[in-house]
Amino acid sequence: MTQQDKPRIVPIRKPGMARPNTKSRGNSLQARYLKPRVQKEPGKEMIDFTKPTISDAPILKSDNKDAVKIIALGGLGEVGRNMHLIEYQNQGIIIDLGLRFPEENMYGVDFIIPNIEYITSNKNLRILGIIISHGHYDHLGAIPYLIDKLGYPPIYATPLSREIILKRQEDFTYLRKLDLRTIDKNDFKTINLGPFVIDAFHVNHNIPDSIGLFINTPMGNILYTGDYKFDFNPVADKPADLASIVTLASRGVDLLMIDSTGVESEGHSMSETEIFKNMENIFEDAKGRIIMATFASLVGRIQQAMWLSEKYGRKVAIMGFTMKSNIAISKKLEYLKYDPKLIIETKDIAQYRPEEITILCTGAQGEDNAALMRIINREDKFVRIQKDDTVVFSSSIVPGNEVAVQGLKDNLSKQGAKLYHYKMLDIHASGHAHKEDIKLMLNLIRPKYVMPVHGYYYMQKLMGDLSQETLGIDSAHVLLTACGQLIDLVTGKSILTNKFVPANYVMVDGLGVGDVGEVVLRDRESLAKDGMFIITAVIDIKSKEVKNIEIVSRGFVFMKDAGELIRETREKVASLIKKSTANILAGTVNESYIRNALRDEVGLFLFQRTERRPMIVPIIIEA
Ligand SMILES: [Zn+2]
Ligand SMILES: [Zn+2]
Repeated sequence: MTQQDKPRIVPIRKPGMARPNTKSRGNSLQARYLKPRVQKEPGKEMIDFTKPTISDAPILKSDNKDAVKIIALGGLGEVGRNMHLIEYQNQGIIIDLGLRFPEENMYGVDFIIPNIEYITSNKNLRILGIIISHGHYDHLGAIPYLIDKLGYPPIYATPLSREIILKRQEDFTYLRKLDLRTIDKNDFKTINLGPFVIDAFHVNHNIPDSIGLFINTPMGNILYTGDYKFDFNPVADKPADLASIVTLASRGVDLLMIDSTGVESEGHSMSETEIFKNMENIFEDAKGRIIMATFASLVGRIQQAMWLSEKYGRKVAIMGFTMKSNIAISKKLEYLKYDPKLIIETKDIAQYRPEEITILCTGAQGEDNAALMRIINREDKFVRIQKDDTVVFSSSIVPGNEVAVQGLKDNLSKQGAKLYHYKMLDIHASGHAHKEDIKLMLNLIRPKYVMPVHGYYYMQKLMGDLSQETLGIDSAHVLLTACGQLIDLVTGKSILTNKFVPANYVMVDGLGVGDVGEVVLRDRESLAKDGMFIITAVIDIKSKEVKNIEIVSRGFVFMKDAGELIRETREKVASLIKKSTANILAGTVNESYIRNALRDEVGLFLFQRTERRPMIVPIIIEA
């Protein structure tokens, strides 16, 4: 289906009337830039994008053909969907290709991925390679959806990321084989891609095999931290490679692209070893089974749960597809070490006493189809919540999932489980550097310019402030940018430009990519909020007379109680049709005209009566 032949559903809107179902957005710069993440109408927001983010750096025209261009196509003003393009004279590299989970009002949308129109529409631009910093979906999850459009350039990844990419690819059988090249984690070799020379260095994060990148370009050096923290006592990983960071940085870093996610947190981020102590307390206290819900990618945390289970005489049952496959991958790569006898099948749980069981499962974010959800909804064949179960949520809540997780917790409490969440007990260590770690990174690198990446605008801003304080650099050297905005790097100088390329959301709904637009989304939102109102009118094409009108509403008003309203609406519809057909010749009923009139007028009428805006679906049948 092309853009043209898609049925267009026009939202009810009168001049001067507020946009349907949109909370007051506030017109001040303040409001727009503090929360720049909700983008309802691509056309409109594209214009907004061209209004640069508030930054002290001067904004100049991008007119230098020899500049190295740096563009974030995701991950700015939001958390997730990380993707960066670095381009020089029609040759480009992509750093990370991530997705983002939808917000709660994005009904039926599975993921949001970057818009790569700028790349695909530029026939001269060649993508020489994609480099993946680590195995999280917000950094590699968009590969299956975009790799075909990008023409299958080689993908460079460390072993764990590589395996995660491959595993995921199994669900996309119609795609070609990926050109995957492994970055050897014990011996990072320089990657040469056209004008770009790339060196990787090891950082800690809450998944092993995470790297940052030092990128030499003809116009200067760029350093990308990736998601990072410093952990000098990591579990299932080595400490971050400070020596390499210092060595690479000594070549001079002109532009530092630094992860801003953890900038609000004071102090140092906690070591996984400290978390171990907290978890051990839970294992000591638990009277019954321990059910630990976490991300399948939190390999260090999974290792800890296995060690503690071993120590406290518990067997481990693994539930959830991604949990099982990630554990298998990590075991194969020797990130996870355990005696195979430790693991039991879920069907055998009943053979053990409750205090001899640990269950590892997915679903700490309240995801609909995850293992924990099945257990809570009593849909799992072997596991039900029982009294004395201890349920541990061992990961922080991804923004947007708060309500789902709250529902989960209520439900678990009602069923008699004892809950631990990271807020109650620090069993969560952020995967991201806190303030003091960020200062360390800044001091190790001492860049000329800082571009805060990964995070909402105010995180970028905090990161900018912290960089200024720490490095004593001028505020004009802090580049606060929005997705799609071009940065020119010219002989070591980073210039914020007024050029923007498309960077709006692309929605993935099931297997469809980009076929759910903002209009469809708004319809789903309006259906969920105010329901639907279907008007079927049968018109005699010869006499132009309305023969029958039927009105059905769903989720809007209860029909029986709304007899008066429905009766009035019916009259309204009849007179509207009469009016619309009054001046036309018999036999030439203009259906779409009538439909639009009905949609607008009935929409306004219902709003005046009920202050609700249901979706109006007029159906005209000619008899
Ligand atoms: Zn990450
Ligand atoms: Zn990330």
